[in-house]
Amino acid sequence: MHIKSATFNTSYPRFKDMPETQFPEFAFIGRSNVGKSSLINMLVQRKNLAKTSSKPGKTRLINSFMINDSWNLIDLPGYGYAKVSKKKRNMFGDMITEYLEQREQLFCAFVLIDLRIPPQPIDLEFMDWCVVKEVPIAIIFTKCDKLKTTKRHTQRETFLAALYQRGWEQVPHFFESSSVKSEGREEILDFISNVMKG
Ligand code: GDP
Repeated sequence: MHIKSATFNTSYPRFKDMPETQFPEFAFIGRSNVGKSSLINMLVQRKNLAKTSSKPGKTRLINSFMINDSWNLIDLPGYGYAKVSKKKRNMFGDMITEYLEQREQLFCAFVLIDLRIPPQPIDLEFMDWCVVKEVPIAIIFTKCDKLKTTKRHTQRETFLAALYQRGWEQVPHFFESSSVKSEGREEILDFISNVMKG
């Protein structure tokens, strides 16, 4: 997919503020600091479309971008940056779960995983939750430039093995990416095109 245009639409403080639209949506989500803003900017080749490096605890908003006048890129708030009390209704935040559970326009949510670190319980739990709620997901491993080929392979296999250990019968489609080297860009954009074509 060639990116002809990418513009900021609006930020929404709550899911229920999001209007219905006719456009397919592809969402990006992950733990704070996973490299989400960098990845979004790399995908659409705009330096500062998504705001990088988030101070933990910054205002949590759903940001929507219009791409090629044909689909919306949805930048969801990061999860797991703060300890959440057990009493709180859910550990990922209402905005995120309401969006993923209820948004009819959602074609796929990309779950970003930092490939440099071991599988994190919160990422695995989040992905389990997506399966239970039947949210369509794909994985994007980030910061791959930081790893040598062998390490990269073992880290990826370790993550996928963790899913199998949790009872997954099939792992989601996955991509390896580097915002520094623009790796994974074509594959992810082609995947989006194909999902939209159905
Ligand atoms: P966000 O909080 O998920 O939006 O993460 P950011 O995009 O702000 O990135 C967090 C940190 O990781 C920043 O210091 C980025 O420069 C760094 N980073 C993000 N993506 C990559 C990548 O692909 N490779 C490398 N080496 N660093 C990255």
